[in-house]
Amino acid sequence: MKIAIDGPAGAGKSTVSRAIAKAFSCTFINTGATYRAAALGLKRGLALREIQIDITPAERILLNGEDVTEKLYTAELDQLSSQIATRADVRGRLVELQRQMAQNRDVVMEGRDIATVVLPDADVRIFLTASPEARARRRFRDRQGRETYEEILRKIRERDERDSVGFNRLQLTPETVVIPTDDRTLDEVIDEVLQRVSAALKDRKKLGKL
Ligand code: C5P
Repeated sequence: MKIAIDGPAGAGKSTVSRAIAKAFSCTFINTGATYRAAALGLKRGLALREIQIDITPAERILLNGEDVTEKLYTAELDQLSSQIATRADVRGRLVELQRQMAQNRDVVMEGRDIATVVLPDADVRIFLTASPEARARRRFRDRQGRETYEEILRKIRERDERDSVGFNRLQLTPETVVIPTDDRTLDEVIDEVLQRVSAALKDRKKLGKL
């Protein structure tokens, strides 16, 4: 089973995806982390072809064998990853890697272009959305005051603009279910996604696809 969870920065994708992966015993793959690791590699002066990225079962991100997980979620890499994600050569390489990661296993994959590009035949397609303000509030809490709320909001808006240009990112497919998360707790959102996935599983069983 392939579950695609797309949406803009700070919509709650990782929390929701992790919970869904756990509930259905799927592997969780965070494609944003692959862009962040690639950005770190390029910043260190590596050529794209020299960059090797792996995600371990414990969700550690390895850049050429080095565990860089703790280095990826900084304000600098928020912006740098979003900038290098507009390069066609970077995307070509990472989309191929992400498809390999999803091969022959049940996955919950989160990103911006999962249902449209990476896993176009995903069984369940969810798009989490929220206002920039709600997302900035969430980020502010997660980052524990390392940046002001206003700074985070400005950068989220900047990133939204860049992240929705080209490469079929942040687009809906006819099967995509849009779930607004502004006025709900992430636990409520997780419940709704759990129900949607269970319903999709039942349908597939009925159709004899599982
Ligand atoms: O999701 P996260 O904020 O960690 O992603 C970092 C950046 O990687 C995003 O701002 C976006 O530019 C890029 N990205 C992308 N396509 C994806 C996942 C992330 O372009 N599937």
